[in-house]
Amino acid sequence: MTDLTGKVALVTGGTRGIGLATVRALAEAGATVVLTGRDESAAKETAASVEGNVSAVGLDVTDAKAVSTVVRGVAKEHGQLDIVVANAGILEDALLGMIREDLVDRMMSTNVGGTIHTVQAAARAMMRKKTGAIVVLASIVGEQGSAGQVAYAASKAAVGNVAKSAAKELGRYGIRVNGVAPGVIETAMTEHLGEDIIAGRVEDTPLGRLGKAEEVAKAIRFLVSDEASFVTGQILGVDGGLVL
Ligand code: NDP
Repeated sequence: MTDLTGKVALVTGGTRGIGLATVRALAEAGATVVLTGRDESAAKETAASVEGNVSAVGLDVTDAKAVSTVVRGVAKEHGQLDIVVANAGILEDALLGMIREDLVDRMMSTNVGGTIHTVQAAARAMMRKKTGAIVVLASIVGEQGSAGQVAYAASKAAVGNVAKSAAKELGRYGIRVNGVAPGVIETAMTEHLGEDIIAGRVEDTPLGRLGKAEEVAKAIRFLVSDEASFVTGQILGVDGGLVL
């Protein structure tokens, strides 16, 4: 199994779904993990329920200053920061004609802004040591497009590009930046999808089922580990082969 003993990791949006599965996967591999969620006491409760060296801190990733403070605080408290997973994200479906300005603002400030703030803060914390691994959460819809998800899909396309562009800037500091692009994963985010949509997605997936948060977490764990030491600027699809 991947060994992350001695590594310190931060996972934004680690309170449920893919984020929480990632916290578990990293902790299981021996990393010290700090998770974040917007409600600090709920996040602390979640952290306490995970086996391993796991703690929590409250954070809204749309607040650039708060992101910087939290990331610096984690690096200071633990003496290092090796792994950052910029996972926090939101989804709101809307057909093109129904998209309002505030929806666009929410998608962009959380998914794109939150990811950029997190990657920037992570890079600052990692630069001195000249080593580190960052993973962002893109999406299959950011690559292929998706009807009824123009704003979300555009935000996830941007997130994928954050990984590719940041990898180009940060390689000289020994910092790798990659993304995962999940297909449809069974989490709270996809609970609202109707049975017909789910059935269609399953039919369009060669592996014939939806994905599990743990399966995305394993891909993330690979990308942040030394097993991926020469991998950067890549977006790894974790989608069962789904074609939208
Ligand atoms: P969930 O809705 O289950 O979890 C989202 C997480 O993000 C929660 O922990 C939530 O924490 C956190 N979060 C949301 N907004 C903020 C914010 N402003 N600041 C800090 N934390 C925030 O989603 P998933 O686990 O399904 O998704 C995780 C990531 O994977 C997202 O970026 C999503 O876009 C991406 N993804 C998911 C897919 C899927 O099929 N599920 C497919 C492709 C990509 P809290 O509410 O406690 O603050």
